[in-house]
Amino acid sequence: MHPALRPSFEAVLQRNPGEPEFHQAVLEVMLSLAPIADSRPDYTQWSILSRICEPERQIIFRVPWTDDDGVVHINRGFRVEFNSALGPFKGGLRFHPSVNLSIIKFLAFEQVFKNALTGMPIGGGKGGSDFDPKGRSDAEIMRFCQSFMTELYRHIGEYTDVPAGDIGVGGREIGYLFGQYKRITNRYESGVLTGKGLSWGGSQVRTESTGYGTVFFAAEMLAARDESLEGKRVVVSGSGNVATYAIEKAQALGATVVACSDSAGYVVDEDGIDLALLRDVKEVRRERLTAYADERPSATHVADGSIWDVPCDVALPCATQNELEAEHARVLVKNGARLVAEGANMPCTPEAVAVFRDAGVAFAPGKAANAGGVATSALEMQQNASRDSWAFGYTEDRLRSIMRDIHTSCVETAARYGEPGSYVMGANLAGYTKVADAMVAQGVI
Ligand code: NDP
Repeated sequence: MHPALRPSFEAVLQRNPGEPEFHQAVLEVMLSLAPIADSRPDYTQWSILSRICEPERQIIFRVPWTDDDGVVHINRGFRVEFNSALGPFKGGLRFHPSVNLSIIKFLAFEQVFKNALTGMPIGGGKGGSDFDPKGRSDAEIMRFCQSFMTELYRHIGEYTDVPAGDIGVGGREIGYLFGQYKRITNRYESGVLTGKGLSWGGSQVRTESTGYGTVFFAAEMLAARDESLEGKRVVVSGSGNVATYAIEKAQALGATVVACSDSAGYVVDEDGIDLALLRDVKEVRRERLTAYADERPSATHVADGSIWDVPCDVALPCATQNELEAEHARVLVKNGARLVAEGANMPCTPEAVAVFRDAGVAFAPGKAANAGGVATSALEMQQNASRDSWAFGYTEDRLRSIMRDIHTSCVETAARYGEPGSYVMGANLAGYTKVADAMVAQGVI
């Protein structure tokens, strides 16, 4: 780390004890700021850094709800409104038992720079709860969402803070959350949440956008090397929203996706993942991937071990943070992987990223590669503001061109600061300078 930045990082550690994921996300950005520490000392002075690393507002609240047997449960809700220099706070809600303040802060911090990279007028935030939706009935999910929104509604709004989905929060949950918001406020404020259903203010392509966008970004990276996805072997971790549509688009562009996973193991399918079966198992029946392997003769389920043992040309980690460690990265490199693009947020540990860098593997961080989801959310907000709805093809073209622009911005920024080929440096420096410029212009607030 540049010596001028070290005191700032130490201060972040001291002010935010016991938050390892947040520390990791801040460190990753600070390590990228060396090229501007000398040329733009005004950007990296503690006065700017301190504000960029301190959320504007952090809300923690009680979420009481009753299960189908009448038993009362208490969960904890979070919303971290990190930075609104570029627009209203924008970022998803995560429902998963692992959720805590550190995880929400890391996600919100990353979101600030990701949203800046999209070129859309949106700030960064994130929220969620330690609620575990697994095994809960629709009625229980609805009661939980209603209770969650009964507190959250007072903090959000189309000009203030616009949540969306993330792990454990899909179309069903956004529906229950929106319904409760509408009921409490007596306002049909479509732009208050994104990821809505198509008949009530949602956007075409929003469901597909994070996975599609990740593959569009990977395709741009390959094109920069005169290659394409045609004929490539691809491994995608996860089998949720991001993974499903990454698989769909990668196969549409000529790749064979030979493996995907969930939190109980992974499947290898040399014939290529059968997307219709995968969606039936995960989205409709909400079962484990063992059911996929049971019904597909070409597939094998592996309960232990790592999906990154499966040889591939392209790896797309699309499950969760820190799921790909240095030892996995070494196996991927040994097996000939040439490109890694993060569909999830921070799925690769810093040590894994270093292995890829040293081996010359093209690596795209999530804040660039998975920005298509939030970018399409911003397109949904545009449609809501103009009471319009766009066709699928038009919206997908906008997404593709946004991903191309982000790729260009990363490549050009990295080259300008003397780090050609580093998507990490390009993404962090482009995102950081955009946010810092706006903050300087708006004064000390
Ligand atoms: P989903 O809940 O739809 O899917 C998550 C998938 O990851 C599931 O297959 C889940 O398995 C698996 N998973 C979760 N935790 C673990 C774990 N600890 N170990 C192994 N597998 C795990 O979430 P999304 O697809 O929406 O999100 C995935 C990632 O993408 C997250 O990092 C999210 O922050 C990021 N992201 C999402 C965006 C979006 O638009 N949805 C936008 C940008 C980033 P199981 O089925 O067993 O639970």
